[in-house]
Amino acid sequence: MSFVIPQPAQTSLPVAGTDSRFPVRRVYCVGRNYADHIVEMGGDPDRDAPFFFSKPADAVTQDGTVLFPPKTDNLHHEMELVIAISKDGKDIAVGDALDHVFGYAAGVDLTRRDLQAWAKKNGRPWSMAKGFDKSAPMSAVKAASEIGHPDSGRIWLSVNGETRQDGDLGQQIWRVEEIVANLSEFVQLGAGDLIMTGTPAGVGPMSGGDQVEGEIEGIGSLKFKLGPRP
Ligand code: MN
Repeated sequence: MSFVIPQPAQTSLPVAGTDSRFPVRRVYCVGRNYADHIVEMGGDPDRDAPFFFSKPADAVTQDGTVLFPPKTDNLHHEMELVIAISKDGKDIAVGDALDHVFGYAAGVDLTRRDLQAWAKKNGRPWSMAKGFDKSAPMSAVKAASEIGHPDSGRIWLSVNGETRQDGDLGQQIWRVEEIVANLSEFVQLGAGDLIMTGTPAGVGPMSGGDQVEGEIEGIGSLKFKLGPRP
């Protein structure tokens, strides 16, 4: 097989404690999953079905420096639990969903909040608010065979040493198995898919040069510096 242009690189994440990597196929994100964040965004927390949006696979990054994206005056951090899917599935039952999970990572759903607000107001897509280059810094993936399927644990993020987000996985409205089952009704989930599961309260703006650090207890941590604002 030959390609007419250079074949795009396969995005991947290291698997903690191994020499192997987790290849990334698709990146899905849950829109709202912590009541306190829904309230801070002006919404009404309830158990309406979760909704999903996507980022391109190559939005995932582990670079120590994350480029400050153009076209925004309000770049926000959203610290999130990331589910790594190990096998294909469609219409997965809640009771079978954890069998499709390879493991978990910590990730930041970087968001151009001003573009998102404009898109919401005007009924336009969120793609440019959420799916820009390097918009998903992540930790290594930790295998569920090592840590199980955590449903509690501290999740926090700091900017320049100041804690901004500080929640617990136990606050999630939708559990991992419910998210996997629900998403698989809309799309065929595939090995290599990542699902970012929503963020607790405390999202806020960042500036060029900010040092960002975050951790999910028992799962992983990440650290990156934002490049200068263009
Ligand atoms: Mn998010």
